[in-house]
Amino acid sequence: MDKRTLTEKAKSHLEVLCAEIGERRVGSEKNRQATAYTKKVLKELGWQIESTELSAIDWKTEGATLTCNGESFEVFSSEYSLGCSVKGKLTAINTVAQLEQIDIKDKIVLLYGEIASQQIAPKKFPFWNPEEHQHIVSLLEKGNPKALICATERNAISAGGVYPFPMFEDGDFDIPSVYMKDTEGEKLLAYAGQTVELESKAIRISETAFNVIGRNSNQTKDRILITAHIDTKISTPGAIDNGTGVAIVLLLAELLKEKSQNYPIELVILNGEDYYGAPGQVKYMEQNAGQFGEMLLNINIDGAGYKEGVSCFSPFNLPENILDALYEVLWNTPEITEGLPWYQGDHSMFLQNGCPAIAVSSQWFIENFEIQELTHTPKDNLSIVNYERVAECALGITKFIVSLSHDKNN
Ligand SMILES: [Zn+2]
Repeated sequence: MDKRTLTEKAKSHLEVLCAEIGERRVGSEKNRQATAYTKKVLKELGWQIESTELSAIDWKTEGATLTCNGESFEVFSSEYSLGCSVKGKLTAINTVAQLEQIDIKDKIVLLYGEIASQQIAPKKFPFWNPEEHQHIVSLLEKGNPKALICATERNAISAGGVYPFPMFEDGDFDIPSVYMKDTEGEKLLAYAGQTVELESKAIRISETAFNVIGRNSNQTKDRILITAHIDTKISTPGAIDNGTGVAIVLLLAELLKEKSQNYPIELVILNGEDYYGAPGQVKYMEQNAGQFGEMLLNINIDGAGYKEGVSCFSPFNLPENILDALYEVLWNTPEITEGLPWYQGDHSMFLQNGCPAIAVSSQWFIENFEIQELTHTPKDNLSIVNYERVAECALGITKFIVSLSHDKNN
């Protein structure tokens, strides 16, 4: 298939995923529409399908309000938090040491400054959970306040391009919370010790979501696993994160069908990379427990196809013959370059289990991740996608897999 046809196909998949469907938060109807679409495409192309049901919490809010002495402050319900309608004394806390000392029982606690500088890892997040975060969570749970108000700044490393960011985004953490801009927090600080009224009209809803897997063989040894997450954060159509990754997997479903390979291929649409409990990733790990050692390689696509700059393939722990095959493709493809290592993606799950990986992304994003304001916002839409880059990634991965198969023959 030539690049032009492939570019058109990429565009058409992305229009379905990011324009017709749009936001694909885990547990939502639209998320299920998106996985159903990938299942249909893979099935029509002749792949054996496995669809795994996941239980998930969907979440909605009709907004939040905070008042004190007739004064209103702008607050937002923390994603996946329980709602509340409470009245209590405002207690301000800005360090862990203060949280250890101050009695917060039945108070409404303002967390600001140092203690609110990072997003706290969800309680049950399997891949990353610093002790300091667990300590903060356990102090708050023991302290038993009525609710939390988190005043946060901009922190792209911790929370993408969102400002303010929710300090807690965790369906397993049951203290109701809202968040506000750090500048708004400074104003609220003057009211510490007074009675405030907080209402957050948020609800949690039990729902389902799916992982979708397409296979071309029943052989499990030496599998090549090509992964992309389909879910988005709330309020973003998730074009670069990660509609393009899913589109590349769907293009590969077509390209790899035309070519013969000597390795079993598994195309994996994962659900949960941008969700507090990573349910699709956890389920996939359970299903493959003890098998990671016999996988040949993971190719994870996330953040590909950005309009500026070229694509990048970052190798992790590749055996020499596989690395050579990759370099050969990179030398012959000026639009794809070797990328620096980065770890905020599903390839980390494979690496942690001893399976080598390649992460496919956009060079601009890897180099500007800390300063960009696109990830997890409405700005991550189709206007920042270069469809040709999407097609080139699919062609590059195909060339690479075909050359690995040749090596195996020789
Ligand atoms: Zn992503």
